[in-house]
Amino acid sequence: MKKVLIIHAHPEKQSFCSALKDVAINHFQSKGAEVKVSDLYKMRFNPVGDKHDFLELSNPDFFKYQAEQTNAFQKDLFTPEVKAEMEKFLWCDTLIFTFPLWWFGLPAIQKGWIDRVFAMGFAYGAGKGVYDNGAFKDKIAFSVLTTGGPEIAYGDSGKNGNLETILYPIHHGMFYFVGMQVKKPFVSFSPARLSDEERKNELDRLEDYLDSVGEE
Ligand code: FAD
Repeated sequence: MKKVLIIHAHPEKQSFCSALKDVAINHFQSKGAEVKVSDLYKMRFNPVGDKHDFLELSNPDFFKYQAEQTNAFQKDLFTPEVKAEMEKFLWCDTLIFTFPLWWFGLPAIQKGWIDRVFAMGFAYGAGKGVYDNGAFKDKIAFSVLTTGGPEIAYGDSGKNGNLETILYPIHHGMFYFVGMQVKKPFVSFSPARLSDEERKNELDRLEDYLDSVGEE
């Protein structure tokens, strides 16, 4: 893990989730890795995939997003905002998504990053394979997330259901779909309900987790 890209989605820089992101940045930098961060709220990243992704359209009369993504990839027609994120992603060997769980999924701003950056032609399709034949099988990906609900609610018999199942669309349908090797997530359950000391322990636990992921 020498080139780490963190895609961060929290609207508050003093949040616990943002503190986890900062621990990850410091951790990898202290190990000599280069770290780039797309702090999506800070960047005011537009999550809406639309015609504005392209400098030109191949068919202005009928907008077909994936067809335009493929065309833009072939003819270098992505706008600078999308292209800059694609270049950061191509650069990294490790992709980390840091986020609070919102409605059993990614905050919309981060889902929009996937919609726009994991474009057809660039990330899959148009001759590129998926899953084990995916274009990015040399990259590692994992999630660092916080929840509102307690850990017990996310167990097999918990009322929210198994968290790995909830994260399946992200880990399987996004990260592994484009070929990446997906590591187990780091989950900090209900940080708002913890004491300061317990939260400090969570930050230490993330350090240990990052060490173990790095050693794998
Ligand atoms: P924060 O409230 O920011 O942090 C908790 C506490 O940690 C704060 O007091 C903060 O001051 C303190 N803190 C910050 N930095 C540090 C530090 N360095 N050391 C010690 N303490 C620190 N939850 C679910 O479980 N499932 C859902 O589906 C879900 N859907 C949601 C949908 C929406 C739209 C929203 C807004 C919330 C949802 N939630 C859900 C809740 C959400 O996941 C949690 O509120 C969030 O993950 C908690 O993390 P946080 O970083 O925002 O916590």
